[in-house]
Amino acid sequence: MIQKTALLILAIAVVVILLPAAAVTVGGCPGFSPETAEAPAPAGLPEQGADGKVRLYRADCKEIVVLDLEEYLIGVVLAEMPSSFELEALKAQAVIARTYALHRHPAAGGGGCDRAPGGADICSDSTHCQAWLDPEETAADWGAGGENFLKRIRQAVSETAGEVVVYRGKLIEAVYHSTCGGRTEASDALWKGGSLPYLQSVACPYCKHSPYYRGEQLIPFTRLARALPGDPALPVLSAGQPPPEIAAETPGGRIAALTINGRTIGGPELRNLLELPSTALTWEVREEGLLFHTRGRGHGVGLCQYGADGAAREGKCYKEIIHFYYPGSEITPLKP
Ligand SMILES: [Zn+2]
Ligand SMILES: [Zn+2]
Repeated sequence: MIQKTALLILAIAVVVILLPAAAVTVGGCPGFSPETAEAPAPAGLPEQGADGKVRLYRADCKEIVVLDLEEYLIGVVLAEMPSSFELEALKAQAVIARTYALHRHPAAGGGGCDRAPGGADICSDSTHCQAWLDPEETAADWGAGGENFLKRIRQAVSETAGEVVVYRGKLIEAVYHSTCGGRTEASDALWKGGSLPYLQSVACPYCKHSPYYRGEQLIPFTRLARALPGDPALPVLSAGQPPPEIAAETPGGRIAALTINGRTIGGPELRNLLELPSTALTWEVREEGLLFHTRGRGHGVGLCQYGADGAAREGKCYKEIIHFYYPGSEITPLKP
């Protein structure tokens, strides 16, 4: 009995001593203490640019507008992520968008954007740089409630002001996508020979609530014949012809290349030609065409946006979310 009581007292003492350490707050992220928290501050961080401005080419009105970096980011988060997402997901998006923008910014050593006549730092075309919407115009279009959504986005940007993601002291390639569908993709699937240590395939349990988690698309043989390379007059599948076959797979289990109709076509090209949501797919041969079963939406590399929202719903903070999708990276403030 005495022994049991002594053990109980010991157990209580251990809990009391250890609890404050477990509840430590790192940079406003409760309970988060990454392995890298003790690492020295990375050297060689880029400056924000001589004047801290972003020359944005607005693809919608074909004009260049000059904005403060933080002001620009409000329009990016607004355009790139549903504003109803959890605040910690919006904050992760803000840090990632800031990192992406600076990585491209000539003042930080980036190549800028070549879409605008005469050049710009970045453009608002999501297929080229990052999407951007005018915050005031968009909030007005949303009508009642628009201002509240905008307020949350402003909060996400201001609560992470100046924070960027680095790997070994350099800004990361902060790529992101809508929904991975259960597993993200490695960078070498996106850029040939471009394996980056912080862009590896990770299992993502957080995006099951996405409307793009799983999908189906039936593409008739006539449309396949028109869309795919080769003679559009010839049938894609006919008697004696082998069904489509996977020619190569990516590290994340997507289609790197597919052999169809005797020709081999790259996964991303196939996705573009057939307007499929992703290259994570399987198919069935049906009488009228190919039925594609798809997983996720987008290239699958880096942050999974619906995953960020799902992780935030489970109580993860923005720093934990970023470390999960970019393993080994660090979040750090820009030099003043
Ligand atoms: Zn661009
Ligand atoms: Zn995901």
